[in-house]
Amino acid sequence: MISDSIKRIEELLCELEKNSASATTARELRLQLADVYTKLRYANSVKRDGKAVIDRNNVEGIFEEAVKNEEFKVFYQPKVNLKTYEPEGAEALCRWIHNDEVIAPDDFIPILEQSSRIETLDFYMLDHVCSDMRKWLDAGKNVVQVSVNLSRINVGQDRLIERIIETVDRYAIPHSYIQIELTETSTELGFDELRDLVLGLRDAGISTAVDDFGTGYSSLKLISELPWNVLKIDKSLLHEAEREGSSEHLMLSHIISMVRDLGMECVVEGVETPEDIKLLKDNNCFMAQGFYFDRPISVEYFEQLLDGVSHRKRKR
Ligand code: C2E
Ligand code: MG
Ligand code: MG
Repeated sequence: MISDSIKRIEELLCELEKNSASATTARELRLQLADVYTKLRYANSVKRDGKAVIDRNNVEGIFEEAVKNEEFKVFYQPKVNLKTYEPEGAEALCRWIHNDEVIAPDDFIPILEQSSRIETLDFYMLDHVCSDMRKWLDAGKNVVQVSVNLSRINVGQDRLIERIIETVDRYAIPHSYIQIELTETSTELGFDELRDLVLGLRDAGISTAVDDFGTGYSSLKLISELPWNVLKIDKSLLHEAEREGSSEHLMLSHIISMVRDLGMECVVEGVETPEDIKLLKDNNCFMAQGFYFDRPISVEYFEQLLDGVSHRKRKR
């Protein structure tokens, strides 16, 4: 069984990590192993990342049936602590499995955002994440905070905060395990509703994150006036910041220190290479999400990953 071999490799790595002379090699091995896991998991999770396998004009027509048939699946992408290389959180990302094909969110979210269907999908995702978490808690698994994307279209909807809390409470999930990711607003329009939402969630002990910072109209007002817990820097800014001496390089470094000084946590998305990791560490940012560690993975593989963390913790 491959899982037995993996368990044995993990045990050997733990032994190596205890010895300071071999700890660096062990860390490097762990990184390589993470890469192998990812490829294995992803290869087993999906047949292929389907592109344009649905008729865009017919998404709305088949959406309700697809919800009923549970065709939407939660995939989890770990957020990794760069000091320990352990997953300390995850983002829930939607995949639509339709006629055995995997449809990526960019092919259907913008269409659902043209109507209230996006609200149905976002609450479906939150509900399924809470249900997964309840299973993990009941099984005594190591549970990490999971963030769920909430489309900006939902902001200002009736009883939004109450409905989020009701969903989380239906599964008796401690509120601190849930984070809501919201993208920034491009105009003043909707700012008050966004503030009410972020404040309301904070009062309920539910964490919030500004998603995709560094794209569109990133505003200082947005981060200075609202009590976000986390700011997520978008992959496009990271990739442009790789050019030493570029203005994006400077901006990344200053955004990270500003976010820290404001008492927020910074998570960088799109981490793909060892150079990305070095860039983040050099700037004292230690939370990363990206293909270097894991692609979004199915719940079954994510559970194995959580089991691996518990296993290593027990060994220490
Ligand atoms: P997002 O919330 O910013 O999610 C991060 C996206 O970056 C994901 O794309 C993820 O697969 C991708 N990503 C992560 N690491 C890397 C990397 O190292 N390199 C590259 N090139 N990409 C990386 P995905 O899953 O295709 O989702 C795209 C967007 O669709 C999400 O962006 C989010 O805005 C939206 N989305 C996904 N699921 C949901 C959902 O349940 N509700 C709503 N409202 N939106 C969702
Ligand atoms: Mg997101
Ligand atoms: Mg993002």
